[in-house]
Amino acid sequence: MTKAKKQQNLIIISGPSGVGKSTICEQVVEKLGAFLSVSSTTRTQSETERQGREYNFLPRAEFEEMIQNNDFLEHAEVFGNYYGTPKEPVDEALAAGRIVILEIDVQGALQVKKIRPQTRTIFILPPRSRDLRDRIDGRGRGENEKTKKWRLETAGREIAAAWQHYDHMVINDDLSQAVQEVIDIINGKLKGQI
Ligand code: ADP
Ligand code: 5GP
Repeated sequence: MTKAKKQQNLIIISGPSGVGKSTICEQVVEKLGAFLSVSSTTRTQSETERQGREYNFLPRAEFEEMIQNNDFLEHAEVFGNYYGTPKEPVDEALAAGRIVILEIDVQGALQVKKIRPQTRTIFILPPRSRDLRDRIDGRGRGENEKTKKWRLETAGREIAAAWQHYDHMVINDDLSQAVQEVIDIINGKLKGQI
């Protein structure tokens, strides 16, 4: 496989908080045997999360050191915290010919697309905007009202940017249908927008 072909195996999945990205990614990864990148973040770990599983939770100073060392493929500040994709594991998996999935925000997606234009971007939409609120509550992370409101307010801006910049839009109404659409996109069976 050529290097350019391998770069097409890099898939970005984004979407507003609570839309179902983690749920979809988990199933896609299981069905395709893909590699899911574990991001680093400075945000507080919730009780349902485990160090190294959802994220590498790091103190700010350590994250900033990784930025200085050029250890990230991309990084961004989201909801007042740093989030970033460690470069080395992604490149190792791509070199091994695997499909690699990054679950990152729009800012990060645009950074990656700029330096690796073969990357394919998928944005997950909610069927109705009020579903986001219910799903954010449903995650049970114990977040305060202010954080939840911030996440909802950001959703509209992200969705507008995504229509402009993303290769594919997928509505997560029926979960198994959304998972199948993402798999079809990755396998090259669905080429256009939704
Ligand atoms: P995200 O990673 O985008 O923040 P999650 O994957 O954590 O979102 O999903 C948020 C909540 O919504 C979870 O409780 C999840 O079980 C639920 N959820 C995911 N997809 C659907 C769907 N298609 N219909 C209803 N609930 C869903
Ligand atoms: P959460 O705190 O809900 O887990 O994630 C908040 C937002 O950060 C989500 O939009 C998620 O996709 C994004 N995110 C997670 N990891 C990364 C990353 O490594 N880089 C960037 N740019 N965004 C990320």
